[in-house]
Amino acid sequence: MRLLLMGPPGAGKGTQAAVIAERFAVPAISTGDIFRANVARRTALGTAAQTYMDAGEYVPDEITNAMVADRLCEGDCADGFLLDGYPRTPQQVAELDTILDRSGVALDAAVLLEADPDELVSRLLARSEEQGRADDTESVIRRRLEVYAAETGRLADSYAERDLLATVDGLGPVEEVTDRILAALTSMSAQRTATSAP
Ligand code: AMP
Repeated sequence: MRLLLMGPPGAGKGTQAAVIAERFAVPAISTGDIFRANVARRTALGTAAQTYMDAGEYVPDEITNAMVADRLCEGDCADGFLLDGYPRTPQQVAELDTILDRSGVALDAAVLLEADPDELVSRLLARSEEQGRADDTESVIRRRLEVYAAETGRLADSYAERDLLATVDGLGPVEEVTDRILAALTSMSAQRTATSAP
């Protein structure tokens, strides 16, 4: 299973990624988590990413794409993966296509988690108290939502055009959202089987 999990900050991607990846026995790869781990370890990648992250801006595509290309070459991705928070720009969509073409594999689905913007802000503010993430302050949260709307909001269209998009309501208890995602994936795969049947 090769999956993307898309959606605005605070939609619950990280929480759902962990559950869905476990269900399909594939690694959950969060670009945000990889960047944060590098910031914590003070690596060159972390130093390069930190100013962008602290400001709520995207880390430049060259840096992000190179990191994802490396990660997807690792052995645990051979039979599938779930990407959480990548791609976020048209250049990242193109890079992911190239990486997958090179390996002769294809995506199975892109799941878009949707949520009301006011709900996103209050969820992220609540998370800042629990986790103390540097970019969960109100002004940076607002900037992250703006950047998402400007750069990433329309990317789902390119997966819809390829019949790969499942849009799921991200509001409600975690288990309910998980069930909606799994149901959407099942119905997508049933439709595919029906259309490919002789
Ligand atoms: P996240 O944990 O997904 O909310 O990501 C936290 C921060 O990491 C973002 O605000 C960006 O600064 C950076 N980041 C994560 N994923 C990407 C990406 N695909 N492209 C550019 N920057 C990213």
